[in-house]
Amino acid sequence: MSGQNHAVVIGASMGGLLAARALADFYQQVTLIERDAFPRIGQNRKGVPQGRHTHALLLRGGEILEGLFPGLTADLMDRGVPLINRPERELIWFDGGGYHARFTNEDGRTGALGVSRPLLEGYVRQRLLALPNLSAIEQCDALGLVPSERAGRVRGVRIRRRVEEGAEGMLEADLVVDASGRGSRAPKWLEEMGYAPPEEERVTVHVGYSTRLYRRRPEHVNGAKTVLITPQPPQLKRLGVILAQEGERWIVGLGGALGDYPPSDEAGFLAFAQSLAAPDIYNLIKDAEPLSEIITYRFKASLRRRYEKLTRFPEGFLVFGDAVCSFNPIYGQGMSVAAMEALDLQHELRRGDVGLWRRFFRRAARSIDIPWQIVVSSDLRFPEAEGKRTPRIRVINAYMARLHRAAHRDPVVAKAFNDVANLLAPPQSLMRPTILWRVLRG
Ligand SMILES: Cc1cc2nc3c(=O)[nH]c(=O)nc-3n(C[C@H](O)[C@H](O)[C@H](O)COP(=O)(O)OP(=O)(O)OC[C@H]3O[C@@H](n4cnc5c(N)ncnc54)[C@H](O)[C@@H]3O)c2cc1C
Repeated sequence: MSGQNHAVVIGASMGGLLAARALADFYQQVTLIERDAFPRIGQNRKGVPQGRHTHALLLRGGEILEGLFPGLTADLMDRGVPLINRPERELIWFDGGGYHARFTNEDGRTGALGVSRPLLEGYVRQRLLALPNLSAIEQCDALGLVPSERAGRVRGVRIRRRVEEGAEGMLEADLVVDASGRGSRAPKWLEEMGYAPPEEERVTVHVGYSTRLYRRRPEHVNGAKTVLITPQPPQLKRLGVILAQEGERWIVGLGGALGDYPPSDEAGFLAFAQSLAAPDIYNLIKDAEPLSEIITYRFKASLRRRYEKLTRFPEGFLVFGDAVCSFNPIYGQGMSVAAMEALDLQHELRRGDVGLWRRFFRRAARSIDIPWQIVVSSDLRFPEAEGKRTPRIRVINAYMARLHRAAHRDPVVAKAFNDVANLLAPPQSLMRPTILWRVLRG
Protein backbone atom coordinates (compact mmCIF):
# COMPACT_ATOMS: atom_id res chain seq x y z
CA MET A 1 0.00 0.00 0.00
CA SER A 2 1.51 3.31 -0.99
CA GLY A 3 1.04 6.85 0.26
CA GLN A 4 0.21 5.82 3.79
CA ASN A 5 2.22 8.06 6.01
CA HIS A 6 1.11 8.01 9.56
CA ALA A 7 -0.94 5.73 11.81
CA VAL A 8 -1.69 6.53 15.44
CA VAL A 9 -2.62 3.89 18.02
CA ILE A 10 -4.37 4.93 21.24
CA GLY A 11 -3.22 2.73 24.15
CA ALA A 12 0.04 0.79 24.45
CA SER A 13 -1.16 -2.30 26.28
CA MET A 14 -1.10 -5.68 24.53
CA GLY A 15 -3.90 -4.67 22.14
CA GLY A 16 -2.25 -1.42 21.09
CA LEU A 17 1.19 -3.02 20.79
CA LEU A 18 -0.14 -5.77 18.55
CA ALA A 19 -2.09 -3.32 16.39
CA ALA A 20 1.07 -1.21 16.05
CA ARG A 21 3.08 -4.28 15.05
CA ALA A 22 0.61 -5.00 12.24
CA LEU A 23 0.61 -1.37 11.07
CA ALA A 24 4.40 -1.05 11.10
CA ASP A 25 4.60 -3.15 7.91
CA PHE A 26 2.32 -0.76 6.03
CA TYR A 27 2.78 2.80 7.35
CA GLN A 28 5.86 4.98 7.11
CA GLN A 29 5.38 6.08 10.69
CA VAL A 30 3.37 4.57 13.55
CA THR A 31 2.88 6.49 16.81
CA LEU A 32 1.61 4.90 20.00
CA ILE A 33 0.05 7.20 22.55
CA GLU A 34 -0.29 5.99 26.10
CA ARG A 35 -1.53 7.79 29.18
CA ASP A 36 0.88 5.97 31.51
CA ALA A 37 4.64 6.43 31.71
CA PHE A 38 6.29 3.19 30.57
CA PRO A 39 7.75 1.32 33.53
CA ARG A 40 10.85 -0.87 33.48
CA ILE A 41 10.30 -4.21 31.71
CA GLY A 42 8.54 -6.55 34.10
CA GLN A 43 7.01 -3.80 36.27
CA ASN A 44 3.26 -3.26 36.60
CA ARG A 45 1.59 0.00 35.70
CA LYS A 46 -1.62 1.81 36.59
CA GLY A 47 -3.37 1.61 33.21
CA VAL A 48 -3.22 -2.21 33.23
CA PRO A 49 -4.40 -3.15 36.74
CA GLN A 50 -5.25 -6.66 35.50
CA GLY A 51 -1.54 -7.20 34.83
CA ARG A 52 -1.00 -8.13 38.49
CA HIS A 53 -3.33 -11.11 38.10
CA THR A 54 -2.88 -14.47 36.40
CA HIS A 55 -2.46 -13.95 32.68
CA ALA A 56 -2.27 -17.16 30.68
CA LEU A 57 -0.92 -16.82 27.18
CA LEU A 58 -2.89 -19.44 25.23
CA LEU A 59 -1.02 -21.59 22.72
CA ARG A 60 -2.63 -19.78 19.80
CA GLY A 61 -1.60 -16.39 21.14
CA GLY A 62 1.94 -17.57 21.86
CA GLU A 63 2.34 -18.91 18.33
CA ILE A 64 1.12 -15.67 16.74
CA LEU A 65 3.40 -13.59 18.97
CA GLU A 66 6.37 -15.74 17.99
CA GLY A 67 5.47 -15.13 14.32
CA LEU A 68 5.22 -11.37 14.81
CA PHE A 69 8.32 -11.16 17.02
CA PRO A 70 10.60 -14.02 15.94
CA GLY A 71 12.80 -15.24 18.79
CA LEU A 72 10.33 -14.14 21.51
CA THR A 73 10.05 -17.63 23.03
CA ALA A 74 13.80 -18.16 23.28
CA ASP A 75 14.38 -14.62 24.61
CA LEU A 76 11.78 -15.02 27.32
CA MET A 77 13.14 -18.43 28.27
CA ASP A 78 16.56 -16.78 28.62
CA ARG A 79 14.91 -14.49 31.15
CA GLY A 80 13.82 -17.51 33.19
CA VAL A 81 10.32 -17.95 31.77
CA PRO A 82 9.24 -21.60 32.08
CA LEU A 83 8.02 -23.43 28.99
CA ILE A 84 5.09 -25.80 29.42
CA ASN A 85 5.53 -28.28 26.60
CA ARG A 86 5.09 -31.64 28.28
CA PRO A 87 1.42 -31.52 29.23
CA GLU A 88 1.45 -35.13 30.46
CA ARG A 89 3.65 -33.99 33.38
CA GLU A 90 3.24 -30.24 33.48
CA LEU A 91 -0.50 -29.63 33.22
CA ILE A 92 -3.11 -30.64 35.80
CA TRP A 93 -6.67 -29.78 34.83
CA PHE A 94 -9.63 -30.53 37.06
CA ASP A 95 -12.91 -29.89 35.24
CA GLY A 96 -16.43 -31.32 35.30
CA GLY A 97 -15.90 -33.17 38.58
CA GLY A 98 -12.64 -34.97 37.76
CA TYR A 99 -9.07 -34.66 36.50
CA HIS A 100 -8.68 -34.64 32.74
CA ALA A 101 -6.66 -37.59 31.44
CA ARG A 102 -3.03 -36.71 30.74
CA PHE A 103 -2.11 -36.37 27.07
CA THR A 104 1.20 -35.83 25.30
CA ASN A 105 2.39 -33.04 23.04
CA GLU A 106 2.11 -35.27 20.00
CA ASP A 107 1.83 -32.30 17.60
CA GLY A 108 5.30 -31.17 18.68
CA ARG A 109 4.08 -27.68 19.56
CA THR A 110 6.59 -25.33 21.13
CA GLY A 111 4.44 -25.06 24.24
CA ALA A 112 2.97 -22.37 26.46
CA LEU A 113 5.07 -19.71 28.16
CA GLY A 114 4.68 -19.17 31.89
CA VAL A 115 5.35 -15.47 31.49
CA SER A 116 4.03 -12.74 33.75
CA ARG A 117 1.93 -10.12 32.06
CA PRO A 118 4.29 -7.18 32.83
CA LEU A 119 7.28 -9.07 31.44
CA LEU A 120 5.43 -10.05 28.28
CA GLU A 121 4.10 -6.53 27.68
CA GLY A 122 7.47 -4.92 28.48
CA TYR A 123 9.32 -7.31 26.17
CA VAL A 124 6.89 -6.76 23.28
CA ARG A 125 7.03 -2.99 23.79
CA GLN A 126 10.83 -3.04 23.69
CA ARG A 127 10.86 -5.10 20.48
CA LEU A 128 8.33 -2.80 18.88
CA LEU A 129 10.05 0.44 19.82
CA ALA A 130 13.24 -0.91 18.27
CA LEU A 131 11.54 -0.74 14.85
CA PRO A 132 12.73 2.32 12.91
CA ASN A 133 9.24 3.59 12.06
CA LEU A 134 7.75 3.17 15.52
CA SER A 135 7.61 5.80 18.23
CA ALA A 136 5.60 6.36 21.40
CA ILE A 137 4.34 9.35 23.32
CA GLU A 138 4.00 8.44 26.97
CA GLN A 139 1.88 10.26 29.54
CA CYS A 140 -0.46 11.44 26.85
CA ASP A 141 -4.28 11.19 26.79
CA ALA A 142 -6.32 10.81 23.63
CA LEU A 143 -9.22 13.21 24.03
CA GLY A 144 -11.19 12.65 20.85
CA LEU A 145 -11.17 12.27 17.10
CA VAL A 146 -10.61 15.13 14.67
CA PRO A 147 -13.01 14.88 11.71
CA SER A 148 -11.73 15.78 8.28
CA GLU A 149 -13.31 18.51 6.17
CA ARG A 150 -13.88 15.67 3.71
CA ALA A 151 -17.08 14.14 5.03
CA GLY A 152 -16.84 10.61 6.39
CA ARG A 153 -13.19 10.68 7.43
CA VAL A 154 -11.06 11.04 10.52
CA ARG A 155 -7.94 13.11 10.11
CA GLY A 156 -6.34 12.78 13.49
CA VAL A 157 -6.67 12.65 17.22
CA ARG A 158 -6.78 15.35 19.88
CA ILE A 159 -4.30 14.76 22.66
CA ARG A 160 -3.24 16.22 25.97
CA ARG A 161 0.19 15.59 27.40
CA ARG A 162 0.37 14.99 31.11
CA VAL A 163 3.73 16.75 31.19
CA GLU A 164 4.35 20.23 29.72
CA GLU A 165 1.50 21.65 31.83
CA GLY A 166 -1.10 19.57 30.09
CA ALA A 167 -0.61 21.13 26.68
CA GLU A 168 -3.34 20.12 24.23
CA GLY A 169 -2.55 19.38 20.63
CA MET A 170 -3.45 17.31 17.65
CA LEU A 171 -1.79 14.43 15.84
CA GLU A 172 -2.57 14.20 12.14
CA ALA A 173 -2.97 10.64 10.93
CA ASP A 174 -4.13 8.66 7.93
CA LEU A 175 -5.41 6.03 10.36
CA VAL A 176 -6.31 6.21 14.05
CA VAL A 177 -6.70 2.89 15.91
CA ASP A 178 -8.42 2.95 19.28
CA ALA A 179 -6.93 0.24 21.51
CA SER A 180 -7.78 1.99 24.77
CA GLY A 181 -9.42 -1.07 26.31
CA ARG A 182 -12.85 -1.84 27.63
CA GLY A 183 -13.43 1.76 28.73
CA SER A 184 -12.97 2.94 25.11
CA ARG A 185 -14.80 6.16 24.30
CA ALA A 186 -15.08 5.31 20.61
CA PRO A 187 -18.88 4.83 20.77
CA LYS A 188 -19.20 8.35 22.20
CA TRP A 189 -16.72 9.80 19.71
CA LEU A 190 -18.72 8.27 16.87
CA GLU A 191 -21.93 9.80 18.17
CA GLU A 192 -20.24 13.20 18.41
CA MET A 193 -19.40 12.88 14.71
CA GLY A 194 -22.99 11.97 13.83
CA TYR A 195 -22.56 8.19 13.57
CA ALA A 196 -24.55 5.51 15.37
CA PRO A 197 -22.65 3.67 18.13
CA PRO A 198 -22.31 -0.11 17.87
CA GLU A 199 -24.79 -2.49 19.48
CA GLU A 200 -23.48 -4.02 22.68
CA GLU A 201 -23.89 -7.58 23.97
CA ARG A 202 -23.19 -8.46 27.57
CA VAL A 203 -23.10 -11.55 29.69
CA THR A 204 -23.09 -10.53 33.34
CA VAL A 205 -20.95 -12.81 35.49
CA HIS A 206 -19.66 -10.77 38.49
CA VAL A 207 -16.28 -12.51 38.69
CA GLY A 208 -13.84 -11.68 41.49
CA TYR A 209 -10.10 -12.52 41.57
CA SER A 210 -7.67 -12.73 44.50
CA THR A 211 -4.04 -13.21 43.58
CA ARG A 212 -0.79 -13.84 45.37
CA LEU A 213 2.77 -14.79 44.41
CA TYR A 214 4.60 -17.68 46.09
CA ARG A 215 8.10 -19.08 45.86
CA ARG A 216 8.21 -22.11 43.56
CA ARG A 217 10.16 -25.22 44.46
CA PRO A 218 10.90 -28.11 42.05
CA GLU A 219 9.07 -30.62 44.25
CA HIS A 220 5.79 -28.65 44.16
CA VAL A 221 2.83 -30.47 42.55
CA ASN A 222 5.16 -33.22 41.28
CA GLY A 223 6.87 -30.92 38.81
CA ALA A 224 3.68 -29.61 37.20
CA LYS A 225 3.81 -26.02 35.93
CA THR A 226 0.10 -25.29 35.64
CA VAL A 227 -2.88 -26.36 37.71
CA LEU A 228 -6.39 -25.38 36.73
CA ILE A 229 -9.41 -26.12 38.87
CA THR A 230 -12.42 -24.82 37.02
CA PRO A 231 -15.92 -23.99 38.31
CA GLN A 232 -18.51 -26.75 38.40
CA PRO A 233 -21.82 -25.15 37.42
CA PRO A 234 -24.46 -24.80 38.60
CA GLN A 235 -23.40 -25.29 42.24
CA LEU A 236 -19.69 -24.56 42.56
CA LYS A 237 -18.74 -21.11 41.27
CA ARG A 238 -15.13 -21.18 42.42
CA LEU A 239 -11.95 -21.65 40.47
CA GLY A 240 -8.24 -21.74 41.12
CA VAL A 241 -5.25 -21.47 38.85
CA ILE A 242 -1.54 -21.59 39.46
CA LEU A 243 1.02 -20.79 36.81
CA ALA A 244 4.80 -21.17 37.05
CA GLN A 245 6.50 -17.88 36.14
CA GLU A 246 9.92 -16.35 35.71
CA GLY A 247 11.78 -15.74 38.97
CA GLU A 248 11.07 -19.26 40.30
CA ARG A 249 7.65 -18.22 41.50
CA TRP A 250 4.01 -19.18 41.25
CA ILE A 251 1.23 -16.81 40.53
CA VAL A 252 -1.80 -18.17 42.37
CA GLY A 253 -5.21 -16.91 41.35
CA LEU A 254 -8.45 -17.75 43.10
CA GLY A 255 -11.69 -16.71 41.51
CA GLY A 256 -15.39 -16.81 42.09
CA ALA A 257 -18.28 -16.13 39.75
CA LEU A 258 -21.63 -14.47 40.44
CA GLY A 259 -20.53 -12.63 43.52
CA ASP A 260 -18.86 -15.60 45.25
CA TYR A 261 -15.70 -13.49 45.54
CA PRO A 262 -12.51 -14.82 47.13
CA PRO A 263 -11.33 -12.81 50.14
CA SER A 264 -8.11 -10.82 50.43
CA ASP A 265 -7.04 -11.81 53.94
CA GLU A 266 -4.61 -14.64 54.56
CA ALA A 267 -6.95 -17.00 56.41
CA GLY A 268 -9.82 -16.36 54.01
CA PHE A 269 -7.55 -16.91 50.99
CA LEU A 270 -6.45 -20.30 52.33
CA ALA A 271 -9.99 -21.31 53.27
CA PHE A 272 -11.21 -20.39 49.77
CA ALA A 273 -8.41 -22.48 48.22
CA GLN A 274 -9.42 -25.37 50.46
CA SER A 275 -13.02 -25.11 49.28
CA LEU A 276 -12.11 -25.65 45.59
CA ALA A 277 -13.29 -28.81 43.88
CA ALA A 278 -9.77 -30.35 44.02
CA PRO A 279 -7.08 -30.05 46.72
CA ASP A 280 -3.92 -29.40 44.65
CA ILE A 281 -3.75 -25.63 45.04
CA TYR A 282 -4.54 -25.64 48.74
CA ASN A 283 -1.96 -28.36 49.37
CA LEU A 284 0.65 -26.24 47.62
CA ILE A 285 -0.02 -22.85 49.20
CA LYS A 286 -0.64 -23.97 52.76
CA ASP A 287 3.13 -24.56 53.16
CA ALA A 288 4.60 -22.35 50.41
CA GLU A 289 6.37 -19.07 51.04
CA PRO A 290 4.29 -16.03 50.00
CA LEU A 291 6.16 -13.37 48.03
CA SER A 292 3.47 -10.69 47.83
CA GLU A 293 0.32 -9.27 49.29
CA ILE A 294 -3.05 -10.63 48.23
CA ILE A 295 -4.62 -8.32 45.68
CA THR A 296 -8.14 -8.34 44.24
CA TYR A 297 -9.97 -7.50 41.01
CA ARG A 298 -13.67 -7.41 40.08
CA PHE A 299 -15.04 -8.01 36.60
CA LYS A 300 -18.73 -7.46 35.96
CA ALA A 301 -19.59 -8.64 32.46
CA SER A 302 -18.16 -9.84 29.18
CA LEU A 303 -18.85 -7.10 26.66
CA ARG A 304 -18.89 -7.27 22.87
CA ARG A 305 -19.34 -4.20 20.70
CA ARG A 306 -20.72 -5.14 17.31
CA TYR A 307 -18.78 -2.76 15.05
CA GLU A 308 -19.11 -5.25 12.20
CA LYS A 309 -22.86 -4.61 12.06
CA LEU A 310 -22.55 -0.87 11.47
CA THR A 311 -23.46 0.42 8.04
CA ARG A 312 -21.81 3.85 8.44
CA PHE A 313 -18.41 4.43 9.95
CA PRO A 314 -15.72 7.04 9.27
CA GLU A 315 -12.76 6.11 7.07
CA GLY A 316 -9.40 6.44 8.80
CA PHE A 317 -10.56 4.97 12.10
CA LEU A 318 -10.58 1.47 13.66
CA VAL A 319 -11.24 -0.03 17.07
CA PHE A 320 -9.15 -2.94 18.35
CA GLY A 321 -8.68 -5.43 21.23
CA ASP A 322 -10.68 -5.13 24.45
CA ALA A 323 -12.25 -1.95 23.11
CA VAL A 324 -14.17 -4.24 20.74
CA CYS A 325 -14.63 -7.26 22.98
CA SER A 326 -13.57 -7.95 26.55
CA PHE A 327 -14.06 -11.49 27.77
CA ASN A 328 -14.65 -12.99 31.19
CA PRO A 329 -10.94 -13.32 32.10
CA ILE A 330 -11.16 -16.83 33.54
CA TYR A 331 -10.82 -18.24 30.01
CA GLY A 332 -7.54 -16.36 29.42
CA GLN A 333 -8.40 -15.26 25.89
CA GLY A 334 -7.96 -11.46 25.61
CA MET A 335 -4.32 -11.25 24.56
CA SER A 336 -4.64 -14.15 22.13
CA VAL A 337 -7.69 -12.59 20.49
CA ALA A 338 -5.78 -9.30 20.14
CA ALA A 339 -3.01 -11.31 18.43
CA MET A 340 -5.56 -12.85 16.06
CA GLU A 341 -6.88 -9.37 15.29
CA ALA A 342 -3.34 -8.24 14.46
CA LEU A 343 -3.22 -10.94 11.77
CA ASP A 344 -6.68 -9.84 10.58
CA LEU A 345 -5.47 -6.26 10.30
CA GLN A 346 -2.37 -7.30 8.35
CA HIS A 347 -4.52 -9.37 6.03
CA GLU A 348 -6.89 -6.50 5.29
CA LEU A 349 -4.12 -3.89 4.95
CA ARG A 350 -2.55 -6.07 2.27
CA ARG A 351 -5.76 -5.54 0.31
CA GLY A 352 -5.47 -1.75 0.58
CA ASP A 353 -7.14 0.88 2.69
CA VAL A 354 -10.39 1.49 0.81
CA GLY A 355 -13.25 0.31 3.01
CA LEU A 356 -10.71 -0.93 5.55
CA TRP A 357 -13.05 -0.48 8.53
CA ARG A 358 -15.76 -2.68 7.04
CA ARG A 359 -13.36 -5.45 6.02
CA PHE A 360 -11.39 -5.37 9.27
CA PHE A 361 -14.42 -5.41 11.57
CA ARG A 362 -15.99 -8.28 9.61
CA ARG A 363 -12.84 -10.33 9.66
CA ALA A 364 -12.08 -9.59 13.32
CA ALA A 365 -15.67 -10.54 14.20
CA ARG A 366 -14.97 -14.02 12.81
CA SER A 367 -11.88 -14.25 15.06
CA ILE A 368 -13.94 -13.09 18.05
CA ASP A 369 -16.92 -15.39 17.34
CA ILE A 370 -15.29 -18.56 18.62
CA PRO A 371 -13.85 -17.29 21.92
CA TRP A 372 -17.09 -15.37 22.47
CA GLN A 373 -19.10 -18.54 21.87
CA ILE A 374 -16.90 -20.39 24.41
CA VAL A 375 -17.33 -17.69 27.05
CA VAL A 376 -21.04 -17.18 26.54
CA SER A 377 -22.03 -20.83 26.50
CA SER A 378 -19.78 -21.68 29.47
CA ASP A 379 -20.97 -18.76 31.60
CA LEU A 380 -24.62 -19.38 30.85
CA ARG A 381 -24.32 -22.78 32.54
CA PHE A 382 -24.91 -20.79 35.73
CA PRO A 383 -28.65 -20.12 36.07
CA GLU A 384 -27.90 -16.72 37.66
CA ALA A 385 -25.71 -15.50 34.76
CA GLU A 386 -27.56 -12.89 32.72
CA GLY A 387 -27.46 -13.30 28.94
CA LYS A 388 -29.37 -14.79 26.06
CA ARG A 389 -29.80 -18.59 26.34
CA THR A 390 -30.56 -20.02 22.94
CA PRO A 391 -31.65 -23.67 22.45
CA ARG A 392 -28.27 -24.19 20.74
CA ILE A 393 -26.40 -23.11 23.86
CA ARG A 394 -28.44 -25.53 26.00
CA VAL A 395 -27.58 -28.42 23.67
CA ILE A 396 -23.88 -27.47 23.60
CA ASN A 397 -23.73 -27.31 27.39
CA ALA A 398 -25.39 -30.69 27.85
CA TYR A 399 -22.87 -32.15 25.40
CA MET A 400 -19.93 -30.40 27.11
CA ALA A 401 -20.87 -31.90 30.50
CA ARG A 402 -20.68 -35.31 28.87
CA LEU A 403 -17.48 -34.44 27.08
CA HIS A 404 -15.76 -33.56 30.36
CA ARG A 405 -16.75 -36.92 31.82
CA ALA A 406 -15.22 -38.62 28.77
CA ALA A 407 -12.10 -36.43 29.09
CA HIS A 408 -11.53 -37.77 32.61
CA ARG A 409 -10.50 -41.14 31.18
CA ASP A 410 -9.81 -40.54 27.50
CA PRO A 411 -6.62 -38.61 26.56
CA VAL A 412 -7.86 -38.07 23.00
CA VAL A 413 -10.92 -36.21 24.25
CA ALA A 414 -8.88 -34.33 26.86
CA LYS A 415 -6.47 -33.15 24.17
CA ALA A 416 -9.28 -32.16 21.81
CA PHE A 417 -10.75 -30.01 24.59
CA ASN A 418 -7.36 -28.51 25.39
CA ASP A 419 -6.93 -27.51 21.73
CA VAL A 420 -10.27 -25.70 21.76
CA ALA A 421 -9.53 -23.96 25.06
CA ASN A 422 -6.22 -22.78 23.56
CA LEU A 423 -8.00 -21.46 20.44
CA LEU A 424 -6.11 -23.90 18.23
CA ALA A 425 -9.31 -25.57 17.05
CA PRO A 426 -12.92 -24.42 16.82
CA PRO A 427 -15.51 -25.80 19.27
CA GLN A 428 -17.12 -27.62 16.34
CA SER A 429 -14.06 -29.89 16.29
CA LEU A 430 -15.41 -31.43 19.50
CA MET A 431 -18.37 -32.69 17.46
CA ARG A 432 -16.29 -34.45 14.83
CA PRO A 433 -17.15 -38.16 14.52
CA THR A 434 -14.05 -39.52 16.31
CA ILE A 435 -14.65 -37.33 19.36
CA LEU A 436 -18.44 -37.63 19.26
CA TRP A 437 -18.18 -41.39 19.34
CA ARG A 438 -15.76 -41.34 22.29
CA VAL A 439 -18.06 -38.98 24.19
CA LEU A 440 -21.31 -40.78 23.45
CA ARG A 441 -20.10 -44.32 24.09
CA GLY A 442 -20.15 -43.18 27.72
C1 LIG B 1 -8.44 -9.79 35.73
C2 LIG B 1 -8.09 -10.03 34.29
C3 LIG B 1 -7.36 -11.15 33.95
C4 LIG B 1 -7.05 -11.39 32.62
N1 LIG B 1 -6.39 -12.54 32.30
C5 LIG B 1 -6.07 -12.78 31.03
C6 LIG B 1 -5.39 -13.97 30.67
O1 LIG B 1 -5.17 -14.86 31.49
N2 LIG B 1 -5.02 -14.13 29.36
C7 LIG B 1 -5.31 -13.20 28.41
O2 LIG B 1 -4.95 -13.38 27.25
N3 LIG B 1 -5.98 -12.08 28.72
C8 LIG B 1 -6.38 -11.84 29.99
N4 LIG B 1 -7.04 -10.71 30.30
C9 LIG B 1 -7.38 -9.76 29.21
C10 LIG B 1 -6.17 -8.92 28.80
O3 LIG B 1 -5.66 -8.23 29.92
C11 LIG B 1 -6.56 -7.95 27.67
O4 LIG B 1 -7.30 -8.63 26.72
C12 LIG B 1 -5.31 -7.37 27.02
O5 LIG B 1 -4.64 -6.51 27.88
C13 LIG B 1 -5.61 -6.58 25.73
O6 LIG B 1 -6.37 -5.48 26.08
P1 LIG B 1 -6.19 -4.05 25.39
O7 LIG B 1 -4.77 -3.75 25.15
O8 LIG B 1 -7.12 -3.99 24.24
O9 LIG B 1 -6.75 -3.08 26.54
P2 LIG B 1 -6.12 -2.77 27.96
O10 LIG B 1 -5.22 -3.85 28.41
O11 LIG B 1 -7.25 -2.38 28.85
O12 LIG B 1 -5.21 -1.49 27.71
C14 LIG B 1 -5.71 -0.23 27.38
C15 LIG B 1 -4.51 0.75 27.34
O13 LIG B 1 -4.96 2.02 26.86
C16 LIG B 1 -4.48 3.06 27.71
N5 LIG B 1 -5.46 4.14 27.60
C17 LIG B 1 -6.79 4.09 27.94
N6 LIG B 1 -7.39 5.22 27.61
C18 LIG B 1 -6.46 6.02 27.05
C19 LIG B 1 -6.50 7.33 26.49
N7 LIG B 1 -7.64 8.04 26.43
N8 LIG B 1 -5.36 7.86 25.99
C20 LIG B 1 -4.19 7.12 26.02
N9 LIG B 1 -4.11 5.88 26.53
C21 LIG B 1 -5.23 5.34 27.03
C22 LIG B 1 -4.40 2.40 29.09
O14 LIG B 1 -3.52 3.06 29.96
C23 LIG B 1 -3.89 1.00 28.71
O15 LIG B 1 -2.49 0.97 28.57
C24 LIG B 1 -7.42 -10.47 31.61
C25 LIG B 1 -8.17 -9.33 31.95
C26 LIG B 1 -8.52 -9.14 33.28
C27 LIG B 1 -9.37 -7.93 33.60
